[in-house]
Amino acid sequence: MKDQTIPYKIYLNEDEMPKTWYNLRADMKNKPAPLLNPGTGKPLTAEELSPIFCEELVRQELDETTPFIEIPTEIRDFYKMYRPSPLVRAYCLEEKLGTPAKIYYKFEGNNTSGSHKLNSAIAQAYYAKKQGLKGVTTETGAGQWGTALSMACSYFDLDCKVYMVKVSYEQKPFRREVMRTYGASVVPSPSETTEIGKKILAEHPGTTGSLGCAISEAVEVATKNPGYRYVLGSVLNQVLLHQSVIGLETKTALDKYGIRPDIIIGCAGGGSNLGGLIAPFMGEKLRGEADYRIIAVEPASCPSFTRGTFAYDFCDTGMICPLAKMYTLGSSFIPSANHAGGLRFHGMSTILSQLYHDGYMEAVSVEQTSVFEAAEQFARTEGILPAPESSHAIRAAIDEALKCKETGEEKTIVFGLTGTGYFDLVAYQKYNDGEMDDVIPTDEDIAASIARLPKVPV
Ligand SMILES: *Cc1c(COP(=O)(O)O)cnc(C)c1O
Repeated sequence: MKDQTIPYKIYLNEDEMPKTWYNLRADMKNKPAPLLNPGTGKPLTAEELSPIFCEELVRQELDETTPFIEIPTEIRDFYKMYRPSPLVRAYCLEEKLGTPAKIYYKFEGNNTSGSHKLNSAIAQAYYAKKQGLKGVTTETGAGQWGTALSMACSYFDLDCKVYMVKVSYEQKPFRREVMRTYGASVVPSPSETTEIGKKILAEHPGTTGSLGCAISEAVEVATKNPGYRYVLGSVLNQVLLHQSVIGLETKTALDKYGIRPDIIIGCAGGGSNLGGLIAPFMGEKLRGEADYRIIAVEPASCPSFTRGTFAYDFCDTGMICPLAKMYTLGSSFIPSANHAGGLRFHGMSTILSQLYHDGYMEAVSVEQTSVFEAAEQFARTEGILPAPESSHAIRAAIDEALKCKETGEEKTIVFGLTGTGYFDLVAYQKYNDGEMDDVIPTDEDIAASIARLPKVPV
């Protein structure tokens, strides 16, 4: 039933938008374990990181003590073009479910790139520009991150080179063309433009590429070309920091109406949207000021939290990136080819991994057909066509709301709706045609890739 005191959408005025990001690590007693140099097994220093990443981003990556970091005016101005994002009361979904629960979602799909990734892309592009760089390189799979980064680079007039996994480049031309429209150069990976690409092509002619290979190419180009750095759209501490804008806005909006969430839910790929959404709430929890149930939702076909191991592992399948201590399925783990719903990364943010390990949050895994069922129900009631990734959070929110229906509890549920699904219609087609199924890795599959974890001196 519509509560007359709470609007469908809670917006913020420009002057209520966050002026600082919140660095959750400052309030963690057990800090996330440092990134290690895979060659020496020692924590990576700023000197070692700065040939790869921009200086200010290296500082943010390593800063575990400063709680609030100012958002530069230029970034706040860009945020104003598409933020604040609305916090929506899902009245129609509540009614359809017949639940006494109150459901809210923070919608991050209201920009051309269609997801929350723009929040960090614009920050990373800004620091590259401020350092006087010519451009940045990155990899992209399906293309959400590449699209966000190309928008950000065009705003600051930076060159943007995107290595796009070849199979996506060929089969998913739409995001590729959005990137090119924003001025990015998009190279199908593996390519002849890098040493590693040439090597891979010589060894595996006709390969359709992988994210690990695209990362290797993007890092090589960044380190070999003066004036270029590499940027990454998830997993890293700096990315969670930038994404805290989601949680800070959510908290301000809820506080305006005196709403206290009981349960906060987000999908988890590398952990950036979830880490951003929960940041201020988790901060209160860590400081003992409030308590919330916080739930990470992951695909049953790539269950890093629920079936992974908390250990040092490579962040990439190419095994060239630093080692991170995280919940991982092993960097050689590849989710089943028929998994359509994104969130394919084998590991997880080190911040979220530590918090999960210390019992501050829960995790559930959900099967893709039930995720698309939830997506369909959401689209038909709330009107928004959700991204498959976001629909993992919808699934868990609906499940919690249905539990409230059984118990009669009027819990308040907040979830992150990270993006729209317009570029995922091949997956929707499969679902609509009844051709989608659930493939869940066996214990043996997971044990095989866990057995290949790097040996790290304790
Ligand atoms: C990239 C992406 C995700 C997953 O990434 P996280 O870093 O875990 O947030 C979720 N939803 C959408 C729409 C995405 O584009």
